[in-house]
Amino acid sequence: SKAAGRNAVRFFDPAMQARVVQRATLQRELRHGLRDGELLLFGQPIVDMRAQVCGQEALLRWRHPVRGMVPPAEFIPVAEQTGLILPIGQWVLREACRVLARWAADPARAGWTLAVNLSARQLRQPDFVDGVRQALHAAGADPRRLKLELTESLLLHDVEDTIAKMEALASLGIQFALDDFGTGYSSLSYLKRLPLTQLKIDRSFVRDLLTDPNDAAIARTILQLAQSLEMEVVAEGVETAEQFEVLRAMGCRLFQGYHFGRPAPLEPAHLSPELAPPA
Ligand code: C2E
Ligand code: CA
Ligand code: CA
Ligand code: CA
Repeated sequence: SKAAGRNAVRFFDPAMQARVVQRATLQRELRHGLRDGELLLFGQPIVDMRAQVCGQEALLRWRHPVRGMVPPAEFIPVAEQTGLILPIGQWVLREACRVLARWAADPARAGWTLAVNLSARQLRQPDFVDGVRQALHAAGADPRRLKLELTESLLLHDVEDTIAKMEALASLGIQFALDDFGTGYSSLSYLKRLPLTQLKIDRSFVRDLLTDPNDAAIARTILQLAQSLEMEVVAEGVETAEQFEVLRAMGCRLFQGYHFGRPAPLEPAHLSPELAPPA
């Protein structure tokens, strides 16, 4: 039949086959990249109401020898599907703790927090809490300066287990932020049960804040909700002075976006020989 014919065509679609091969290649190269030190952490500033930096968010990059700097959207989904996100995530945590320990020795940065993105799969590991503890201990980092960013997708899995792990980490002083808030579909009732200290307003609501009354209403609602739950709010994706002003007038106190700074290497160049120009 015609339909079966279409299916057959789709099954042998050379473009699809090419994608399968590409994914396998990506997976292999990423595994080698992790082993060969091609991953690095960028950081993006998080600022207060006076636009003073009070922390950074760690953002993963892959410096591929041929393709150059690969953004996380291109390799994290594959890493999550293959489980490679587990060793990668542990590398990110160890690296972030080393950065925190260096900041602690620098009077200009000693009070900064560093936020690390977690994938739901990491949190489902039975030894996740131990992994975080080890990363902090190995670097000698202060747990109160570490923030862990989670998305609502983690609530799709064993919520009791997630809460238990979060509470174990929170008791060490680690803080938790709920990322991309407003884009998920979880029940608001979970918000009260999770030991969260911060909500991050997704940048899709900030983008059209000045022109779309719905987005302005959502931002305002998130800020009110956070206030009544005694949580901080970070507005993500702030690109203009006008967005900064409007959000500040709504009572937002923390901001992140290109208006304040783009992601840049967290390591000073002199500590990161692979970034320095050849001698
Ligand atoms: P995210 O956690 O929502 O991170 C914010 C993303 O928004 C970053 O993209 C950042 O570069 C971008 N951004 C910041 N300010 C602006 C702005 O003003 N305008 C616009 N248009 N974009 C802005 P990036 O670095 O490409 O990261 C994409 C996503 O990859 C992150 O989204 C996060 O979900 C994931 N990711 C990054 N690093 C890690 C990691 O170490 N582990 C895991 N599991 N995920 C990570
Ligand atoms: Ca994030
Ligand atoms: Ca986000
Ligand atoms: Ca909109």
